[in-house]
Amino acid sequence: MRELLALHRLRLGDFKEAVQQGLLALEALTSSGDLLRQSKVHCTLALAFTDTGLKEQALQHVLAAIEAARDCGNTTAEFWALSRSSTVHGSMGDLARGVELGRQALALSRTLDDPEVNFVALNNLSDSCLEAARVQRVQGLNPSPTLHWGLSLVREAVAVAHAQGHTFFETIALTNLVSILIELDEHDEAREQAGRSKALANVNGFHNLEVNNDAQLAEVVRAEGHLDDATAMMEAQLADPSLDNDPPLLIRLHESLFEMHKESGRFERALAHHEKLHALTLNMTTQTAEIQSQMLINTMGIEQANHEAERSQLEAEMLRIRAEELEQQANTDPLTRLPNRRALDRELPNLMDRAQDLAQPLCAAMIDMDHFKRVNDVHGHGIGDQVLAEMATLLRGVTRESDLAVRVGGEEFLLVLADTSPAQAEKVCERLIASVRGFAWGDLAEGLACTASVGLAARQTSESVAQWLARADAALYAAKNGGRDRVVAA
Ligand code: GH3
Ligand code: MG
Ligand code: MG
Repeated sequence: MRELLALHRLRLGDFKEAVQQGLLALEALTSSGDLLRQSKVHCTLALAFTDTGLKEQALQHVLAAIEAARDCGNTTAEFWALSRSSTVHGSMGDLARGVELGRQALALSRTLDDPEVNFVALNNLSDSCLEAARVQRVQGLNPSPTLHWGLSLVREAVAVAHAQGHTFFETIALTNLVSILIELDEHDEAREQAGRSKALANVNGFHNLEVNNDAQLAEVVRAEGHLDDATAMMEAQLADPSLDNDPPLLIRLHESLFEMHKESGRFERALAHHEKLHALTLNMTTQTAEIQSQMLINTMGIEQANHEAERSQLEAEMLRIRAEELEQQANTDPLTRLPNRRALDRELPNLMDRAQDLAQPLCAAMIDMDHFKRVNDVHGHGIGDQVLAEMATLLRGVTRESDLAVRVGGEEFLLVLADTSPAQAEKVCERLIASVRGFAWGDLAEGLACTASVGLAARQTSESVAQWLARADAALYAAKNGGRDRVVAA
């Protein structure tokens, strides 16, 4: 939708809005990855920027348009991008490059069976030739070869438009044909073709083009050396109020009139046209400058918005990570890095549900260090802490990904063993207390020795969590009473 709006605004000459909508469309399309439409929007933006003289931006967009078109392998899109690129370079004053790109666009258009594309390629390249030839003439070079090339191209463009029955295109091509014929001093044909073009414009109501043909006819008369006639024709044209909407034509007329009056020694009238000319160019320059600065401001506004969006996204991400960290912290025992009771409350229902769904056995092992008070009393609280940290490592040694090892408090741990029968659980716990018993505690403190007792209970489907863990606790109590350093199953 924004793409259409951008194009529409451009046609209406509302460059500011075209750019605004175009940039917004581009943003949406970039995330969608639609290269073909991206290429088209880049073309629209390139034109909007060219028409307001923001060449840097225009260039950037034609390059992006070509790249996107090539990346998606769409030849028609590549043609339009090349064609726009030719226009941008031409209006930047790099006419040779404009012609070269136009030539490439034409070559590409020949591979496409599309009369509109073919017409545009021919017409644009002939126009580039005309511009290039005018510069060649000023530079003292021979413009004739370039003009003749342009002439053959524009004749073909007229033929293509005519065959299509596209009168608007035909009138445009005829107008360009006349311009080239005037440059070539082919006055008779220029007059004849301008007449054809004017008739076509008149019948079809292309008023702007018709006025343009009048100006061309006057230019032919001037080129033939009939300055007074040409002057009269152009002065008559200036009386047409509709010309106020066509500043470029007004400028052309005042410029010609200024030159002709000067040539004929009518300096006062020459000066009057020169003043008009000056006012018109100044006005156009001011308008362009205003639009340019507005467009830059709009572009910056969009960039600012992008920046803000990016920043709030980053901030949200940071908050999320921070919340995750806090959550992690809240669920972890800082001394042993094992999950704590809070984590147990959160995780245990999941383990129980899974066991239930898969009809798998689930065992709880309550583990308590033996005579831990004594460890603290004899070796100090610091050593006691180290023992607990080592104990966590030994617990991790017997647990799998699907199990849960928790420090429930003090020197007490709970091991929940998933998909484990009581017999298997007993083996695991025996292995655990053997590893506690066998650990080189003497390395931590001389004479230190530690053992642990375990109470085991397999979960029964009917019982509550509290009942289940109470049975494990009772088994642990039995293990303590039975002499410690042992596993007792409920
Ligand atoms: P039993 O074999 O009957 O379990 O004897 P015990 O001494 O281990 O029993 P009790 O529960 O009476 O003592 C537990 C001791 O564990 C008491 C407390 O000082 C110590 N303790 C609890 N938490 C920590 C801790 O984080 N660090 C240290 N160093 N000691 C702790
Ligand atoms: Mg204890
Ligand atoms: Mg205890």
